[in-house]
Amino acid sequence: MTGIWLRVALVLIGLAATSAPSDAETVVLRGGTLYASADAAALPDAVIVISDGVISAVGKSGEVAVPSDAQVIDCSGKTVVAGFWNSHVHFTEHVWHNAGAAPAAPLTQHMQEMLTRWGFTTVWDLGSDPNNTLPLRKRIAAGEVAGPTILLAGNIFPKGGHPVYVPSEVQLPEVATPEEATKWARDWLAMGEDGIKLFTGAFMGDKPVINMDPAIAKAAVDVAHAQGRPVFAHPQNKVGVETVIASDVDVLAHTTPSERAYTDDQLARFKAQGTALIPTLALFTTVVLDPNVTNRLIAATVNQLKQFSDNGGTVLFGTDVGFTTQYDTTQEVQLMHRALSERQVLASLTINPARFFKAPKKGKVEQGFDADLVVLDGDPLADVANLAKVSTTIRAGHVIYQKP
Ligand SMILES: [Zn+2]
Repeated sequence: MTGIWLRVALVLIGLAATSAPSDAETVVLRGGTLYASADAAALPDAVIVISDGVISAVGKSGEVAVPSDAQVIDCSGKTVVAGFWNSHVHFTEHVWHNAGAAPAAPLTQHMQEMLTRWGFTTVWDLGSDPNNTLPLRKRIAAGEVAGPTILLAGNIFPKGGHPVYVPSEVQLPEVATPEEATKWARDWLAMGEDGIKLFTGAFMGDKPVINMDPAIAKAAVDVAHAQGRPVFAHPQNKVGVETVIASDVDVLAHTTPSERAYTDDQLARFKAQGTALIPTLALFTTVVLDPNVTNRLIAATVNQLKQFSDNGGTVLFGTDVGFTTQYDTTQEVQLMHRALSERQVLASLTINPARFFKAPKKGKVEQGFDADLVVLDGDPLADVANLAKVSTTIRAGHVIYQKP
């Protein structure tokens, strides 16, 4: 796996560099309780100094010099943690149409409703029109639109496997052979996408699931890995999970509500291959109307999350927002907390994705790290739902959300 994510890391470094202002700008967060990382002890009455988009000093009040010209954000009574990652979003809603030329204000407004007011400073878009999302990311990096750092994955479906819930006018590649998968993976990455998302299984409504041949999946994975890019997969059922394993896909983009549990063999392979999991638990409360069925889906997916985490697997927070309009992250963190500790949920939002996607300057609040920060109204270790009570979101030293 060494070197796999080098290109992603370079993209992140590049975006951070372009978003740093040329004039000196110092922001200080003062008086909050800091969790410098998901496993750090609380530091009360903390001072965090940000210069030019980077954390330049962290310490206890009185021990850190506060520059006289700094913009001070009073964090007393609040909790400060590293900026959050949402590793499964989609910029597909109508508001993003023509995002390269559309007025900035409505884009910033919707970014706030969907992402920044929930603390997200980095997101993985697992499928959207790059003609909208690539210019959108540029405008965010340039400071025109207040939003998170965006990484994108290009989608590949199996032949005849355009999922029923993806609008038919959305044209995405369906591949029948490994050669076609190779071509499409290359084309997506050449277009500027940062990774690939495979539908190893596609949901076809009343008709049977269409699964992707493992040799086709492997061809796309080989292209991505050769370029140091990650591959995500949507597995619809057990066969789709087996294809993830057989083709060395890096990230499961969902748990699998149709299956009660992962098998011991699957868990062993996840561990051996370093597979990561995005649970998207709250999503499964929205797919059927019968509450008994919903309870069963949630029980199955919470069980899978627990098995996966207890097995030592990397859990990445993700909600599928953009596809779902449930932007509020409260239910997701609460459902995750059925399987994970508060610190483990915090890690899935911060250090886990930073490590997994090789962003060495993200995921912690330490000197020299990117100034991606979230100020919370309450302590997330006292109540996991406080992870959704965001007061301020800061990306690269700029406030991109401030609670009114
Ligand atoms: Zn999705």
